[in-house]
Amino acid sequence: MSDNPLDRYEVVIGLEVHTHLKTNSKLFSPAPVRYGDAPNHDVHPIDLGMPGVLPVLNEKVIGLAIRLGLATHSRVNTRSVFSRKNYFYPDLPKGYQISQYEEPVVSDGWLEIEVPAVSEGGGGNGKKTGGTTIKRIGVTRAHLEEDAGKSIHDVAVAGADGTHIDLNRAGVPLLEIVSEPDLRSAVEAGAYLRTLRSILRYLEVSDADMEKGQFRCDANVSLRLWGSEEFGTRTEIKNLNSFSNVEGAIGAEIIRQAEILDDGGEIQQATMAYDVDRRRTRVLRLKENADDYRYFDDPDLIPLLIDEELIEAVRADLPELPEQKLVRFRDQYDLPAETIRILVASRPLADYFERCAAACTSVKAAANWIGRDLRQALSDGGRGIENSALDAETLAVLIGLVEEGRLTAKNARDLLPELVAQGGDPVSLMEERGLEAVSDAGVIDEWVMQVIQANAGAVESVRAGDDKPLNFLMGKVMKAAGGKANPGEVRTRLVEMIRDSA
Ligand code: ADP
Ligand code: MG
Repeated sequence: MSDNPLDRYEVVIGLEVHTHLKTNSKLFSPAPVRYGDAPNHDVHPIDLGMPGVLPVLNEKVIGLAIRLGLATHSRVNTRSVFSRKNYFYPDLPKGYQISQYEEPVVSDGWLEIEVPAVSEGGGGNGKKTGGTTIKRIGVTRAHLEEDAGKSIHDVAVAGADGTHIDLNRAGVPLLEIVSEPDLRSAVEAGAYLRTLRSILRYLEVSDADMEKGQFRCDANVSLRLWGSEEFGTRTEIKNLNSFSNVEGAIGAEIIRQAEILDDGGEIQQATMAYDVDRRRTRVLRLKENADDYRYFDDPDLIPLLIDEELIEAVRADLPELPEQKLVRFRDQYDLPAETIRILVASRPLADYFERCAAACTSVKAAANWIGRDLRQALSDGGRGIENSALDAETLAVLIGLVEEGRLTAKNARDLLPELVAQGGDPVSLMEERGLEAVSDAGVIDEWVMQVIQANAGAVESVRAGDDKPLNFLMGKVMKAAGGKANPGEVRTRLVEMIRDSA
Protein backbone atom coordinates (compact mmCIF):
# COMPACT_ATOMS: atom_id res chain seq x y z
CA MET A 1 0.00 0.00 0.00
CA SER A 2 1.36 3.42 -0.86
CA ASP A 3 2.28 5.80 1.94
CA ASN A 4 0.17 8.56 0.52
CA PRO A 5 -3.45 8.27 1.74
CA LEU A 6 -4.52 10.55 -1.14
CA ASP A 7 -3.76 7.67 -3.52
CA ARG A 8 -6.48 5.62 -1.81
CA TYR A 9 -8.95 8.17 -0.50
CA GLU A 10 -10.68 11.18 -1.90
CA VAL A 11 -10.92 14.05 0.59
CA VAL A 12 -14.27 15.80 1.10
CA ILE A 13 -14.41 19.10 2.95
CA GLY A 14 -17.16 21.54 3.88
CA LEU A 15 -16.40 24.74 5.77
CA GLU A 16 -18.39 26.75 8.28
CA VAL A 17 -17.10 30.31 8.57
CA HIS A 18 -18.04 32.67 11.38
CA THR A 19 -17.46 36.27 10.45
CA HIS A 20 -18.04 39.34 12.64
CA LEU A 21 -20.31 41.86 10.98
CA LYS A 22 -19.04 45.42 10.74
CA THR A 23 -21.40 47.18 13.15
CA ASN A 24 -20.96 49.67 15.95
CA SER A 25 -23.19 47.81 18.34
CA LYS A 26 -24.21 44.25 19.10
CA LEU A 27 -26.79 42.10 17.36
CA PHE A 28 -29.54 42.55 19.94
CA SER A 29 -28.23 45.15 22.39
CA PRO A 30 -26.85 48.70 22.33
CA ALA A 31 -23.49 47.62 23.82
CA PRO A 32 -20.59 48.69 21.58
CA VAL A 33 -18.55 46.26 19.49
CA ARG A 34 -14.93 47.04 20.22
CA TYR A 35 -11.70 45.09 20.26
CA GLY A 36 -9.16 45.40 23.02
CA ASP A 37 -11.34 47.00 25.71
CA ALA A 38 -10.97 45.98 29.35
CA PRO A 39 -12.75 42.66 30.02
CA ASN A 40 -16.51 42.86 30.58
CA HIS A 41 -16.57 46.54 29.70
CA ASP A 42 -18.83 46.29 26.64
CA VAL A 43 -21.73 44.35 28.06
CA HIS A 44 -25.43 45.19 28.30
CA PRO A 45 -28.01 43.32 30.41
CA ILE A 46 -29.53 42.06 27.12
CA ASP A 47 -26.26 40.25 26.33
CA LEU A 48 -26.62 38.48 29.67
CA GLY A 49 -30.26 37.58 29.21
CA MET A 50 -31.17 39.24 32.49
CA PRO A 51 -34.78 38.70 33.58
CA GLY A 52 -37.16 41.05 31.83
CA VAL A 53 -34.87 42.25 29.05
CA LEU A 54 -35.89 41.99 25.41
CA PRO A 55 -33.56 41.68 22.42
CA VAL A 56 -33.91 44.34 19.71
CA LEU A 57 -32.48 43.51 16.29
CA ASN A 58 -29.70 45.79 15.06
CA GLU A 59 -31.05 46.98 11.72
CA LYS A 60 -27.62 47.42 10.19
CA VAL A 61 -27.05 43.66 9.96
CA ILE A 62 -29.92 43.20 7.52
CA GLY A 63 -28.21 45.14 4.75
CA LEU A 64 -24.92 43.38 5.44
CA ALA A 65 -26.50 39.93 5.20
CA ILE A 66 -28.21 40.91 1.93
CA ARG A 67 -24.92 42.13 0.50
CA LEU A 68 -23.22 38.82 1.23
CA GLY A 69 -26.22 36.95 -0.15
CA LEU A 70 -26.17 38.83 -3.44
CA ALA A 71 -22.40 38.61 -3.82
CA THR A 72 -22.56 34.82 -3.42
CA HIS A 73 -25.38 34.42 -5.96
CA SER A 74 -27.60 33.21 -3.14
CA ARG A 75 -31.26 33.59 -2.45
CA VAL A 76 -32.04 36.30 0.06
CA ASN A 77 -35.01 34.96 1.96
CA THR A 78 -37.78 37.46 2.44
CA ARG A 79 -38.66 35.69 5.68
CA SER A 80 -36.20 34.25 8.17
CA VAL A 81 -36.56 33.24 11.80
CA PHE A 82 -34.44 33.57 14.92
CA SER A 83 -34.18 30.43 17.03
CA ARG A 84 -32.72 29.58 20.37
CA LYS A 85 -29.91 27.07 20.30
CA ASN A 86 -29.73 25.76 23.84
CA TYR A 87 -26.51 24.64 25.42
CA PHE A 88 -24.52 25.28 28.53
CA TYR A 89 -21.20 27.00 28.35
CA PRO A 90 -19.62 29.30 30.96
CA ASP A 91 -19.19 32.10 28.41
CA LEU A 92 -22.84 31.85 27.32
CA PRO A 93 -24.66 33.30 30.32
CA LYS A 94 -28.14 33.06 28.80
CA GLY A 95 -27.83 29.29 28.38
CA TYR A 96 -28.79 29.66 24.75
CA GLN A 97 -27.48 31.36 21.65
CA ILE A 98 -29.82 33.25 19.37
CA SER A 99 -29.21 31.94 15.88
CA GLN A 100 -31.15 31.02 12.77
CA TYR A 101 -31.83 27.40 12.03
CA GLU A 102 -34.58 26.18 9.75
CA GLU A 103 -35.13 29.50 8.02
CA PRO A 104 -31.82 31.34 7.49
CA VAL A 105 -31.61 34.77 5.91
CA VAL A 106 -29.49 33.58 2.96
CA SER A 107 -29.41 30.22 1.17
CA ASP A 108 -28.44 28.29 -1.98
CA GLY A 109 -25.61 30.23 -3.54
CA TRP A 110 -22.09 29.70 -4.79
CA LEU A 111 -18.78 31.35 -5.27
CA GLU A 112 -15.89 30.60 -7.58
CA ILE A 113 -12.38 29.81 -6.43
CA GLU A 114 -9.18 29.60 -8.38
CA VAL A 115 -7.05 26.58 -7.55
CA PRO A 116 -3.78 25.29 -8.98
CA ALA A 117 -4.63 23.00 -11.91
CA VAL A 118 -2.72 20.12 -10.33
CA SER A 119 -4.63 20.13 -7.03
CA GLU A 120 -5.11 16.59 -5.74
CA GLY A 121 -8.24 14.99 -7.07
CA GLY A 122 -9.72 18.18 -8.44
CA GLY A 123 -12.47 16.17 -10.10
CA GLY A 124 -13.67 16.89 -13.60
CA ASN A 125 -15.90 19.87 -12.93
CA GLY A 126 -13.51 22.74 -13.62
CA LYS A 127 -12.47 24.74 -16.66
CA LYS A 128 -8.82 25.48 -17.15
CA THR A 129 -7.28 28.93 -17.35
CA GLY A 130 -3.51 28.95 -17.56
CA GLY A 131 -2.02 27.22 -14.53
CA THR A 132 -5.22 27.34 -12.52
CA THR A 133 -8.70 25.90 -12.53
CA ILE A 134 -11.87 27.82 -11.72
CA LYS A 135 -14.12 25.80 -9.48
CA ARG A 136 -17.58 26.60 -8.25
CA ILE A 137 -18.24 25.93 -4.56
CA GLY A 138 -21.79 25.82 -3.24
CA VAL A 139 -22.80 28.10 -0.40
CA THR A 140 -25.47 26.19 1.48
CA ARG A 141 -26.61 29.01 3.70
CA ALA A 142 -25.63 32.06 5.69
CA HIS A 143 -27.39 32.86 8.90
CA LEU A 144 -27.29 35.56 11.53
CA GLU A 145 -26.32 34.70 15.07
CA GLU A 146 -24.71 36.18 18.14
CA ASP A 147 -21.20 35.38 19.25
CA ALA A 148 -20.49 33.97 22.72
CA GLY A 149 -18.06 35.43 25.25
CA LYS A 150 -14.54 34.20 25.76
CA SER A 151 -13.17 31.84 28.39
CA ILE A 152 -9.63 32.78 29.29
CA HIS A 153 -7.58 29.84 30.51
CA ASP A 154 -4.29 31.73 30.26
CA VAL A 155 -2.30 30.84 33.40
CA ALA A 156 -0.82 34.33 33.58
CA VAL A 157 -4.31 35.83 33.78
CA ALA A 158 -6.41 33.23 35.51
CA GLY A 159 -3.89 31.29 37.59
CA ALA A 160 -2.95 27.64 37.28
CA ASP A 161 -6.42 26.16 37.53
CA GLY A 162 -8.68 29.16 37.11
CA THR A 163 -10.68 30.42 34.17
CA HIS A 164 -11.75 33.99 33.57
CA ILE A 165 -14.77 34.96 31.53
CA ASP A 166 -14.79 38.03 29.27
CA LEU A 167 -18.22 38.84 27.88
CA ASN A 168 -17.24 41.73 25.60
CA ARG A 169 -17.72 39.41 22.65
CA ALA A 170 -21.09 38.08 23.86
CA GLY A 171 -23.74 39.29 21.44
CA VAL A 172 -21.38 40.49 18.71
CA PRO A 173 -23.18 39.95 15.37
CA LEU A 174 -21.96 37.05 13.29
CA LEU A 175 -22.82 35.70 9.92
CA GLU A 176 -22.20 31.97 9.76
CA ILE A 177 -21.53 30.98 6.17
CA VAL A 178 -21.78 27.26 5.47
CA SER A 179 -20.34 25.69 2.33
CA GLU A 180 -21.45 22.56 0.53
CA PRO A 181 -19.05 19.61 0.85
CA ASP A 182 -17.54 20.61 -2.50
CA LEU A 183 -13.92 21.14 -1.49
CA ARG A 184 -11.47 18.35 -2.25
CA SER A 185 -8.17 19.35 -0.65
CA ALA A 186 -6.60 21.59 1.97
CA VAL A 187 -5.42 23.80 -0.89
CA GLU A 188 -8.98 24.24 -2.15
CA ALA A 189 -10.15 24.97 1.40
CA GLY A 190 -7.50 27.68 1.66
CA ALA A 191 -8.51 29.16 -1.69
CA TYR A 192 -12.18 29.19 -0.65
CA LEU A 193 -11.41 30.98 2.60
CA ARG A 194 -9.23 33.58 0.91
CA THR A 195 -11.88 34.22 -1.72
CA LEU A 196 -14.64 34.52 0.86
CA ARG A 197 -12.58 36.83 3.05
CA SER A 198 -11.78 39.02 0.08
CA ILE A 199 -15.49 39.24 -0.84
CA LEU A 200 -16.47 40.12 2.74
CA ARG A 201 -13.88 42.87 2.82
CA TYR A 202 -14.81 44.24 -0.60
CA LEU A 203 -18.41 44.41 0.56
CA GLU A 204 -17.40 46.02 3.85
CA VAL A 205 -19.55 43.39 5.50
CA SER A 206 -16.70 42.36 7.79
CA ASP A 207 -13.11 43.37 8.47
CA ALA A 208 -12.50 39.62 8.69
CA ASP A 209 -9.30 40.07 10.65
CA MET A 210 -8.33 36.57 11.75
CA GLU A 211 -6.01 37.83 14.47
CA LYS A 212 -8.92 39.62 16.11
CA GLY A 213 -11.10 36.53 15.87
CA GLN A 214 -13.35 38.22 13.32
CA PHE A 215 -13.06 35.38 10.81
CA ARG A 216 -12.97 31.84 12.17
CA CYS A 217 -13.45 28.53 10.51
CA ASP A 218 -14.73 25.06 11.42
CA ALA A 219 -13.60 22.44 8.92
CA ASN A 220 -15.66 19.30 8.25
CA VAL A 221 -13.52 16.54 6.80
CA SER A 222 -14.26 13.04 5.56
CA LEU A 223 -12.59 10.48 3.32
CA ARG A 224 -14.01 8.05 0.81
CA LEU A 225 -12.41 5.51 -1.47
CA TRP A 226 -11.80 6.91 -4.92
CA GLY A 227 -14.77 6.12 -7.11
CA SER A 228 -17.18 5.73 -4.20
CA GLU A 229 -20.40 7.73 -4.53
CA GLU A 230 -21.21 7.95 -0.87
CA PHE A 231 -19.61 10.38 1.52
CA GLY A 232 -17.70 9.00 4.47
CA THR A 233 -18.46 9.96 8.07
CA ARG A 234 -17.16 13.42 8.80
CA THR A 235 -15.50 15.05 11.75
CA GLU A 236 -15.61 18.78 12.48
CA ILE A 237 -12.45 20.59 13.53
CA LYS A 238 -13.46 23.64 15.55
CA ASN A 239 -12.24 27.21 15.69
CA LEU A 240 -9.36 27.41 13.27
CA ASN A 241 -8.12 30.96 13.33
CA SER A 242 -5.44 31.17 10.66
CA PHE A 243 -5.02 29.93 7.12
CA SER A 244 -2.03 27.84 8.07
CA ASN A 245 -4.00 26.22 10.92
CA VAL A 246 -6.85 25.37 8.56
CA GLU A 247 -4.49 23.76 6.11
CA GLY A 248 -2.45 22.09 8.86
CA ALA A 249 -5.54 20.76 10.66
CA ILE A 250 -7.06 19.31 7.49
CA GLY A 251 -3.75 17.63 6.62
CA ALA A 252 -3.48 16.13 10.12
CA GLU A 253 -7.10 14.95 10.11
CA ILE A 254 -6.68 13.27 6.71
CA ILE A 255 -3.78 11.26 8.10
CA ARG A 256 -5.68 10.35 11.29
CA GLN A 257 -8.77 9.18 9.41
CA ALA A 258 -6.75 7.28 6.81
CA GLU A 259 -4.95 5.32 9.53
CA ILE A 260 -8.26 4.30 11.08
CA LEU A 261 -9.77 3.32 7.74
CA ASP A 262 -6.62 1.46 6.65
CA ASP A 263 -6.89 -0.63 9.83
CA GLY A 264 -10.46 -1.51 8.93
CA GLY A 265 -11.89 0.82 11.58
CA GLU A 266 -14.79 3.25 11.39
CA ILE A 267 -14.69 7.02 11.71
CA GLN A 268 -16.77 8.30 14.59
CA GLN A 269 -18.61 11.52 13.96
CA ALA A 270 -16.86 13.88 16.37
CA THR A 271 -15.94 17.43 17.16
CA MET A 272 -12.18 17.86 17.05
CA ALA A 273 -9.59 20.37 18.14
CA TYR A 274 -6.31 21.04 16.37
CA ASP A 275 -3.16 21.02 18.47
CA VAL A 276 -0.90 23.39 16.58
CA ASP A 277 2.31 22.43 18.38
CA ARG A 278 1.91 18.71 17.90
CA ARG A 279 0.28 19.13 14.48
CA ARG A 280 -2.42 16.67 15.43
CA THR A 281 -6.17 16.69 15.74
CA ARG A 282 -7.84 15.19 18.79
CA VAL A 283 -11.41 14.35 19.72
CA LEU A 284 -13.10 16.97 21.92
CA ARG A 285 -16.48 15.29 22.11
CA LEU A 286 -18.46 12.81 20.13
CA LYS A 287 -20.66 14.76 17.81
CA GLU A 288 -23.85 16.15 19.20
CA ASN A 289 -26.85 16.18 16.89
CA ALA A 290 -29.04 19.12 16.10
CA ASP A 291 -31.79 17.81 18.39
CA ASP A 292 -29.43 17.99 21.35
CA TYR A 293 -29.70 21.75 21.08
CA ARG A 294 -33.49 21.79 21.45
CA TYR A 295 -33.84 24.51 18.87
CA PHE A 296 -37.06 26.49 19.02
CA ASP A 297 -38.17 29.83 17.61
CA ASP A 298 -37.21 32.64 19.95
CA PRO A 299 -40.49 33.92 21.40
CA ASP A 300 -38.92 37.35 22.03
CA LEU A 301 -38.24 38.00 18.35
CA ILE A 302 -40.60 38.27 15.41
CA PRO A 303 -39.60 36.80 12.03
CA LEU A 304 -37.25 38.95 9.99
CA LEU A 305 -39.10 40.15 6.90
CA ILE A 306 -37.12 41.64 4.05
CA ASP A 307 -38.93 43.19 1.11
CA GLU A 308 -37.81 42.99 -2.51
CA GLU A 309 -37.37 46.74 -2.66
CA LEU A 310 -34.69 46.64 0.00
CA ILE A 311 -32.93 43.77 -1.78
CA GLU A 312 -32.93 45.75 -5.03
CA ALA A 313 -31.65 48.88 -3.29
CA VAL A 314 -28.76 46.88 -1.82
CA ARG A 315 -28.07 45.30 -5.22
CA ALA A 316 -27.86 48.71 -6.86
CA ASP A 317 -25.34 49.75 -4.25
CA LEU A 318 -23.00 46.73 -4.53
CA PRO A 319 -19.37 47.57 -5.24
CA GLU A 320 -17.40 45.93 -8.01
CA LEU A 321 -16.47 42.50 -6.63
CA PRO A 322 -13.06 40.82 -6.79
CA GLU A 323 -13.94 38.49 -9.67
CA GLN A 324 -15.35 41.40 -11.72
CA LYS A 325 -12.34 43.57 -10.96
CA LEU A 326 -10.04 40.73 -11.99
CA VAL A 327 -11.70 40.47 -15.38
CA ARG A 328 -11.68 44.24 -15.89
CA PHE A 329 -8.00 44.56 -14.91
CA ARG A 330 -7.11 41.77 -17.34
CA ASP A 331 -8.92 43.62 -20.12
CA GLN A 332 -7.73 47.06 -19.23
CA TYR A 333 -4.11 46.66 -18.16
CA ASP A 334 -1.33 44.78 -19.85
CA LEU A 335 0.10 43.23 -16.69
CA PRO A 336 1.24 39.74 -15.65
CA ALA A 337 -1.58 37.59 -14.25
CA GLU A 338 0.20 37.22 -10.91
CA THR A 339 0.55 41.00 -10.49
CA ILE A 340 -3.14 41.48 -11.20
CA ARG A 341 -4.01 38.82 -8.66
CA ILE A 342 -1.95 40.57 -5.99
CA LEU A 343 -3.49 43.98 -6.72
CA VAL A 344 -7.06 42.72 -6.81
CA ALA A 345 -6.78 40.68 -3.61
CA SER A 346 -7.53 43.83 -1.61
CA ARG A 347 -9.96 46.54 -2.64
CA PRO A 348 -7.96 49.41 -1.07
CA LEU A 349 -4.82 48.17 -2.83
CA ALA A 350 -6.62 47.92 -6.18
CA ASP A 351 -8.06 51.44 -5.74
CA TYR A 352 -4.64 52.77 -4.78
CA PHE A 353 -3.11 51.18 -7.87
CA GLU A 354 -5.69 52.74 -10.16
CA ARG A 355 -5.16 56.21 -8.67
CA CYS A 356 -1.39 55.85 -8.95
CA ALA A 357 -1.50 54.46 -12.48
CA ALA A 358 -3.67 57.39 -13.59
CA ALA A 359 -1.01 59.78 -12.32
CA CYS A 360 1.94 57.81 -13.73
CA THR A 361 3.38 57.71 -17.21
CA SER A 362 3.75 53.95 -16.92
CA VAL A 363 1.03 51.61 -15.67
CA LYS A 364 3.58 48.82 -15.51
CA ALA A 365 5.86 50.84 -13.27
CA ALA A 366 2.95 51.70 -10.97
CA ALA A 367 1.96 48.03 -10.76
CA ASN A 368 5.50 46.90 -10.03
CA TRP A 369 6.17 49.52 -7.41
CA ILE A 370 2.90 48.85 -5.62
CA GLY A 371 2.85 45.08 -6.04
CA ARG A 372 6.39 44.66 -4.81
CA ASP A 373 8.17 47.57 -3.12
CA LEU A 374 5.26 49.42 -1.54
CA ARG A 375 3.74 46.20 -0.18
CA GLN A 376 7.13 45.27 1.23
CA ALA A 377 7.55 48.66 2.90
CA LEU A 378 4.03 48.48 4.32
CA SER A 379 4.48 45.00 5.71
CA ASP A 380 7.90 45.89 7.17
CA GLY A 381 6.28 48.85 8.88
CA GLY A 382 3.35 46.74 10.10
CA ARG A 383 0.81 48.84 8.20
CA GLY A 384 -2.04 48.32 5.83
CA ILE A 385 -2.49 50.39 2.69
CA GLU A 386 -5.33 52.26 4.42
CA ASN A 387 -2.93 53.88 6.86
CA SER A 388 -0.06 54.58 4.53
CA ALA A 389 1.09 58.19 4.85
CA LEU A 390 2.19 57.98 1.22
CA ASP A 391 -0.79 58.59 -1.03
CA ALA A 392 -1.10 57.19 -4.53
CA GLU A 393 -0.43 60.49 -6.29
CA THR A 394 2.75 61.10 -4.30
CA LEU A 395 3.98 57.59 -5.06
CA ALA A 396 3.44 58.48 -8.73
CA VAL A 397 5.79 61.46 -8.28
CA LEU A 398 8.45 59.18 -6.78
CA ILE A 399 8.04 56.69 -9.63
CA GLY A 400 8.30 59.59 -12.10
CA LEU A 401 11.69 60.55 -10.66
CA VAL A 402 12.92 57.00 -11.25
CA GLU A 403 11.46 56.86 -14.74
CA GLU A 404 13.18 60.13 -15.62
CA GLY A 405 16.47 58.77 -14.32
CA ARG A 406 16.74 61.49 -11.65
CA LEU A 407 16.62 58.99 -8.80
CA THR A 408 17.90 55.41 -8.86
CA ALA A 409 15.39 52.68 -8.12
CA LYS A 410 17.46 51.70 -5.12
CA ASN A 411 17.43 55.17 -3.61
CA ALA A 412 13.72 55.48 -4.28
CA ARG A 413 13.13 52.15 -2.56
CA ASP A 414 15.17 53.29 0.42
CA LEU A 415 12.89 56.31 0.83
CA LEU A 416 9.74 54.19 0.93
CA PRO A 417 9.70 53.17 4.63
CA GLU A 418 9.97 56.80 5.66
CA LEU A 419 7.37 58.01 3.15
CA VAL A 420 4.97 55.29 4.17
CA ALA A 421 5.36 56.14 7.86
CA GLN A 422 5.54 59.94 7.75
CA GLY A 423 4.66 61.07 4.26
CA GLY A 424 6.61 63.91 2.65
CA ASP A 425 7.50 65.27 -0.75
CA PRO A 426 9.77 62.97 -2.78
CA VAL A 427 11.39 65.83 -4.72
CA SER A 428 12.39 67.80 -1.62
CA LEU A 429 13.57 64.64 0.13
CA MET A 430 15.72 63.76 -2.85
CA GLU A 431 17.21 67.25 -2.93
CA GLU A 432 17.72 67.56 0.83
CA ARG A 433 19.50 64.24 0.99
CA GLY A 434 21.58 64.93 -2.12
CA LEU A 435 20.26 61.79 -3.80
CA GLU A 436 19.65 63.21 -7.23
CA ALA A 437 21.29 60.93 -9.76
CA VAL A 438 24.15 62.35 -11.72
CA SER A 439 23.29 62.42 -15.39
CA ASP A 440 26.20 64.64 -16.38
CA ALA A 441 27.78 62.48 -19.10
CA GLY A 442 31.27 63.78 -18.37
CA VAL A 443 31.10 62.78 -14.70
CA ILE A 444 29.69 59.34 -15.43
CA ASP A 445 32.37 58.74 -18.06
CA GLU A 446 35.04 59.57 -15.54
CA TRP A 447 33.73 56.95 -13.07
CA VAL A 448 33.43 54.40 -15.82
CA MET A 449 36.97 55.04 -17.01
CA GLN A 450 38.39 54.62 -13.50
CA VAL A 451 36.64 51.28 -13.13
CA ILE A 452 37.77 50.06 -16.55
CA GLN A 453 41.36 50.91 -15.73
CA ALA A 454 41.28 49.30 -12.29
CA ASN A 455 39.65 46.03 -13.44
CA ALA A 456 41.53 44.96 -16.52
CA GLY A 457 40.78 41.26 -16.05
CA ALA A 458 37.00 41.66 -15.92
CA VAL A 459 37.08 44.09 -18.83
CA GLU A 460 39.09 41.58 -20.87
CA SER A 461 36.45 38.88 -20.23
CA VAL A 462 33.64 41.19 -21.37
CA ARG A 463 35.56 41.96 -24.54
CA ALA A 464 35.95 38.24 -25.09
CA GLY A 465 32.16 37.96 -25.15
CA ASP A 466 31.39 37.04 -21.52
CA ASP A 467 28.69 39.35 -20.21
CA LYS A 468 28.80 38.11 -16.65
CA PRO A 469 31.47 40.48 -15.31
CA LEU A 470 29.34 43.41 -16.53
CA ASN A 471 27.24 43.32 -13.37
CA PHE A 472 30.36 43.29 -11.26
CA LEU A 473 31.70 46.32 -13.16
CA MET A 474 28.30 48.04 -12.91
CA GLY A 475 28.48 47.56 -9.15
CA LYS A 476 31.91 49.14 -9.04
CA VAL A 477 30.77 52.20 -10.99
CA MET A 478 27.63 52.58 -8.85
CA LYS A 479 29.84 52.37 -5.79
CA ALA A 480 32.18 55.04 -7.15
CA ALA A 481 29.07 57.15 -7.82
CA GLY A 482 27.81 56.68 -4.28
CA GLY A 483 24.70 55.04 -5.72
CA LYS A 484 23.70 58.26 -7.44
CA ALA A 485 24.18 57.48 -11.11
CA ASN A 486 21.45 56.47 -13.48
CA PRO A 487 22.05 52.70 -13.84
CA GLY A 488 20.72 52.59 -17.40
CA GLU A 489 23.17 55.26 -18.50
CA VAL A 490 26.02 53.63 -16.63
CA ARG A 491 25.40 50.34 -18.33
CA THR A 492 25.24 51.92 -21.78
CA ARG A 493 28.46 53.86 -21.24
CA LEU A 494 30.23 50.87 -19.73
CA VAL A 495 29.47 48.73 -22.77
CA GLU A 496 30.39 51.55 -25.19
CA MET A 497 33.60 52.49 -23.42
CA ILE A 498 34.79 48.90 -23.05
CA ARG A 499 34.24 48.46 -26.77
CA ASP A 500 35.92 51.78 -27.64
CA SER A 501 38.88 51.22 -25.35
CA ALA A 502 39.80 47.98 -27.11
P1 ADP B 1 -23.91 20.81 11.55
O1 ADP B 1 -24.87 21.93 11.76
O2 ADP B 1 -24.14 19.64 12.38
O3 ADP B 1 -22.48 21.26 11.66
P2 ADP B 1 -24.42 20.87 8.69
O4 ADP B 1 -25.37 20.04 7.94
O5 ADP B 1 -24.73 22.31 8.84
O6 ADP B 1 -24.13 20.22 10.08
O7 ADP B 1 -23.05 20.71 7.93
C1 ADP B 1 -21.92 21.33 8.34
C2 ADP B 1 -20.85 21.27 7.28
O8 ADP B 1 -20.44 19.92 7.04
C3 ADP B 1 -21.22 21.79 5.92
O9 ADP B 1 -20.20 22.71 5.54
C4 ADP B 1 -21.20 20.59 5.01
O10 ADP B 1 -20.76 20.92 3.71
C5 ADP B 1 -20.20 19.72 5.69
N1 ADP B 1 -20.37 18.28 5.43
C6 ADP B 1 -21.51 17.57 5.46
N2 ADP B 1 -21.25 16.28 5.20
C7 ADP B 1 -19.92 16.17 5.00
C8 ADP B 1 -19.04 15.06 4.72
N3 ADP B 1 -19.48 13.81 4.62
N4 ADP B 1 -17.73 15.33 4.60
C9 ADP B 1 -17.27 16.58 4.75
N5 ADP B 1 -18.03 17.64 5.01
C10 ADP B 1 -19.35 17.44 5.15
MG1 MG C 1 -21.74 23.06 12.55
